[in-house]
Order: sequence, then C-alpha cells, then structure tokens
Amino acid sequence: MDFNLTEEQQAFRDEVRRFLDENLPPEEERDEMFQLKWGKLVREKRWVGFSWPKEVGGGGGDIMEQAILKEEMANRRAPPLGTCIMGLAWVGPAIIQYGTQDQKGRFIEDILDAKYQWCTGYSEPDIGSDLASLQCKGVREGDHFVVNGQKTWTSLAQWAKWMILLVRTKANTEKKHDGITCLLVEMDSPGITVAPIQNMSKQPFFAEVFFDDVKVPVANLLGKEGQGWQITIGALANERSGISEVTGLLRELDLLKELARNSQLGGRPALEDARVRRRIAEYETRVAAMRFNGLRYLTKQIRGEPLGSETSVNKLHTAHIEKYTAEFALELQGSYGAIAPGRNHPIDHGRWQKEALGWCTAVIGGGTPNIQKNIIAERILGLPHD
Ligand SMILES: Cc1cc2nc3c(=O)[nH]c(=O)nc-3n(C[C@H](O)[C@H](O)[C@H](O)COP(=O)(O)OP(=O)(O)OC[C@H]3O[C@@H](n4cnc5c(N)ncnc54)[C@H](O)[C@@H]3O)c2cc1C
Repeated sequence: MDFNLTEEQQAFRDEVRRFLDENLPPEEERDEMFQLKWGKLVREKRWVGFSWPKEVGGGGGDIMEQAILKEEMANRRAPPLGTCIMGLAWVGPAIIQYGTQDQKGRFIEDILDAKYQWCTGYSEPDIGSDLASLQCKGVREGDHFVVNGQKTWTSLAQWAKWMILLVRTKANTEKKHDGITCLLVEMDSPGITVAPIQNMSKQPFFAEVFFDDVKVPVANLLGKEGQGWQITIGALANERSGISEVTGLLRELDLLKELARNSQLGGRPALEDARVRRRIAEYETRVAAMRFNGLRYLTKQIRGEPLGSETSVNKLHTAHIEKYTAEFALELQGSYGAIAPGRNHPIDHGRWQKEALGWCTAVIGGGTPNIQKNIIAERILGLPHD
C-alpha cells in the first residue's frame, strides 16, 4: 500500500481545499439559504455522484479521488455531497448496474439533483437480520406485479416518492435467497398505506408500510425476476471505503475532548483525569484501526476487486464508538446530561443527548453487531456456522 498521493491526486486535493476555503462558511453561519446554494455548487462541480459514469450525469471520477474528496469534506464538517440519501447510497448504483436505459433516464438525474427521497423496503415484522426469509409477495399478472404484504422500520417512508422494494416472486425455492425480486415502487400507488413509528427521541423517522394489491408496472422491475438478492448485496457493497467516515469520527472525538477539557472532575478539568484519558485513547485507537482497514478496502477497490465480508469489521467499530462516546459525553456532563435538547441551556446545544438517543441508526440499521460478528467469525476467521 502506497500512502503517498500522486501529483494529480495532490492537485485534486488542493482544488478541493481551495473550493472549501472559498465556499464553506463556519458551521454557525450555515443557514437554509446556504444549504441550497451548497447543493447547486457541488452539483455544478459534478461532485454529487462523483464516481458515477458521465453518460448518466455523474462525475466519472476515480475511486481514489472520490476518497480524497470525501475525506476533505469530512475534515471541514461540510454538508453532504447531495441530499437524496438512499438514492445516492444504493438505489442509484443499483440502477446504474442493473437498470434499463429507460430506468437510468427516469431516475439517475433526479437522484443527483435531489428532486425527491427514496426509501428502502427490505425489513419485515420478524424478518430483519434473516432478510432472505422475507415474505412480502409479488405476483406477475400481465404487464404488472401485484404486491401484498408488509414492510417495517422503513426510514423516510412518509416523505419518500419512490421505494426500492424486495418481494418474493417464487415460493419454495431450493435456497431462500432465490425467488426474491427487486421492484421500484411509486409511494403514492393505490393500496400503499404508511404508518409512521416514533423513535425514542420522538422523531417519526421510520414507518410501517402496508401493501394491499398494489400494482407495479413490469417496466419498474430492476434487473431480472429472481435477481433481487444479488442486486441488494452488490449495491450495498458500493462506496464502502469508510475513509470519510473515519474522518467524521475523528472530528467527533475532537468535540469529545473539548467537552472533557471544559468539564470538571474532582475540581480539575476532566481531561486531566487518567480514567477519562484512557477512555478517549481507546476510542482513538479504534478509529486509527478503522482508518487502516478503510485504506485496505480502498486498495481492493482500486484493484477492481469486490468488497465482501471485511467491511463488517469497520461497521462493528462504528457501532461501538457511536454508542459509547455519546454515553460517555453524558457521563462527563454529570447532571447537565439529563437536560433535553431544546430545554434550558443544554451543553453543546444538546448534541450528545441527541446522539445518545440516536445510536440505533448506526448500531442496528444495516445489520446488528451480532450479525457482523457472525460474518467475521464464519467468513473471515473460518469458524463453524452459527
Ligand atoms: C434507525 C433504523 C433505521 C432502519 N431503516 C431501515 C430501512 O430504511 N429499511 C429497512 O428495510 N430496514 C430498516 N431498518 C431495519 C434494520 O435493518 C433491522 O432492524 C435490522 O436488520 C435488525 O433486524 P430486526 O429488527 O428484525 O431484529 P432481529 O433480526 O429480530 O434481531 C433481534 C436480536 O437478535 C440478534 N440476532 C438475530 N439473528 C441472530 C443470529 N443469527 N446470531 C446472533 N444474534 C442474532 C440481533 O443481533 C438482535 O440483537 C432500520 C433499523 C433502524 C434501527
């Protein structure tokens, strides 16, 4: 692994830094107008969908430059490059890889322009970790599929215009992964009911979604019938070098240190206490390990090799750090830790309280720690099956 950047990569990093110096105000000055302006600026630079092919409207950039771009952005806590969250993360890559020309034309530019949100209909009641057992049914009838069943924990469902949906189109297949099909479904189709679920910080962030004889045109079938599992696994492996995530976590640790410096423990700044220093050092060590893992993933991607089970290692570290740093921050705040955001003077505007209540996104979303441990044990360490 060569840690040095080539001249071109160095020049690209300088260009990104110059852009940030010229266009990114301090965090406290970033209002809604700025967010709108930022969205247009980064789109004009073709930095949204940076590595997507130019023919579909992407930037046509390479993986290494993409990592540089994301790292520089995370370093300065810049807003995201594009706001169509799931569209950019996995729907777009899946459509680019498996979609028809018509689907690429209908959806990709809209994702890059953040015209609307997508949501993801994978999990069902009692079917989350064991996703391949999904039961929501799709039956082909002429030029459409008829969908019946239920999805749950569907993030953004009440605001999304489209859903990427997994349905079972064939029962009793030899392997449960077969017979699963991927459909692109318009959320205002007759027969869809969305029932929001409140999370523990009282945000209706996700929802249950019910399908009652919902007709989905065959033109919205992604890939082939029965190819749904392959599409899902392939799309989720996209853009997972994790380098920008590591930079984001380092910035998070800077804030934690700042909090420890400003909090008192036994009449002295908490940061001078050996136990506090040890805890922070443990988090920093984990993030440093994540960075090296991220560079390994990046090297594989540059060589054109697919990413597999190894990304579970960083997912596991992220879950640990996100959960325990927020809890530790509240410990440092003492009784102030109990003041809810929006009430009288919470420290750091209540950011740690919000994070302490929001850990489940990083910990459970995309697969729980137990599942990541199973993957590492079975597929990396070669231990017997669970
Ligand atoms: C914030 C958030 C957002 C989400 N957004 C979406 C979304 O947009 N779309 C979507 O489809 N889903 C979404 N999910 C659902 C998420 O993917 C599932 O919750 C997750 O996969 C776990 O599934 P489950 O809830 O059914 O738990 P279960 O699979 O029932 O697991 C329950 C417990 O059993 C453990 N367990 C299960 N199987 C094993 C095993 N084989 N070995 C050891 N332990 C095991 C788990 O680790 C867990 O502790 C979201 C979840 C959260 C929290």
